[in-house]
Amino acid sequence: MSHAKLSASGSHRWLSCPPSALLEREFPDELSPYAAEGTFAHELAELRLSRAVANTCKPSAYTSKLNTLKENDWYSAEMGDHIDQYVTQISEIYLAAKKACKDALVLLEQRLDFSDWVPEGFGTGDVVIISDDAVEVIDLKYGKGVPVSAEENSQMRLYGLGALKTYGLLYDFTRIRMTIIQPRLDNISTEELSEDELLRWAREVVAPTAAQAIAGEGEFSSGEHCRFCKARFTCRARAERNLELAQYEFKNPALLIHAEIGDILTRTMELSRWASDIQNYALEKAERHGVKFPGWKLVEGRSVRKYTDEEAIAKTLMTKGYEEDAVMPRILLGITAMEKLLGKKAFAKLLLDYIEKPPGRPTLVPESDKRPEISSAQAAAVEFAEEEVPV
Ligand code: SF4
Repeated sequence: MSHAKLSASGSHRWLSCPPSALLEREFPDELSPYAAEGTFAHELAELRLSRAVANTCKPSAYTSKLNTLKENDWYSAEMGDHIDQYVTQISEIYLAAKKACKDALVLLEQRLDFSDWVPEGFGTGDVVIISDDAVEVIDLKYGKGVPVSAEENSQMRLYGLGALKTYGLLYDFTRIRMTIIQPRLDNISTEELSEDELLRWAREVVAPTAAQAIAGEGEFSSGEHCRFCKARFTCRARAERNLELAQYEFKNPALLIHAEIGDILTRTMELSRWASDIQNYALEKAERHGVKFPGWKLVEGRSVRKYTDEEAIAKTLMTKGYEEDAVMPRILLGITAMEKLLGKKAFAKLLLDYIEKPPGRPTLVPESDKRPEISSAQAAAVEFAEEEVPV
């Protein structure tokens, strides 16, 4: 059996739970439409940057390549706008670097080799900007599910190590900057480390943990890093940890105190993620593979009525004298669909005055969440405003 592969994108997981890398090899790759969309967005971004920032693509070749990309099913005006925003941000970062050092260099899609610390480890830096004393690696994240921060981000640090190893012989870097740009969430964040800090992390944390992970050694350890682990459905360590979390020791008096509720809220986050993973896994096994789980059976779920032919229905009703507008009201496209249709720029130009964003419904999140805290008076105002909305 050959050893485990240690990717930069999965590094948070194998650094937290070293034997997961070998265990994951028992499961097939999981295909996600978001990954295909992300890959396409990167292709578009690379082309746009090659013309607008790196100047490595001739105008005629650029136009023809861009036209081909625009034919792709993943392309939309909305994606074009997001990538434009990303390209503008990269231009600004590059211009700032050039201001500080006139010979600053921008490179696209660079192979970053960090195999000195992780066997066979390498990744691809979307953008690398090199100036006299600093190197900056920039990663485009096209997802919009959760904001991703560059701070203490092991994937970005591994890319930083790769940049240091690849260009450090030619340049005398003292600072390594690692930046994530997530245009769909207007999210940009940077971590800057000195060469010493980054190399210490590589030596003390990465290299010894990678050696364990590659051999399938070390302790299983579950946590939020289990989220994308291929073993997450049936992993015994995760199950045991969650069952432990569920056994809350209730203390006297009869009612819970606030500190206990805070503790339970923290436990339920991972617990409910795990419960939902188990439910999805069992349903898929029962439905597609006929697996019987003791005490459980497959039944038909709740279903709702639906029209089979909307045009025929309208025709039937109109011949009976019903008004067309009454039975087929015209409805404006929703905001997301409208923005996708018009593109971000046209949407903002034409419709900004007609859009309002009411405060979001109050939600409890862990203190580590980046959103600013609101007071209970503000929360009550939001609840009150919601109640006032006529139905
Ligand atoms: S599910 Fe979590 S605990 Fe289990 S192997 Fe994966 S990362 Fe480790």
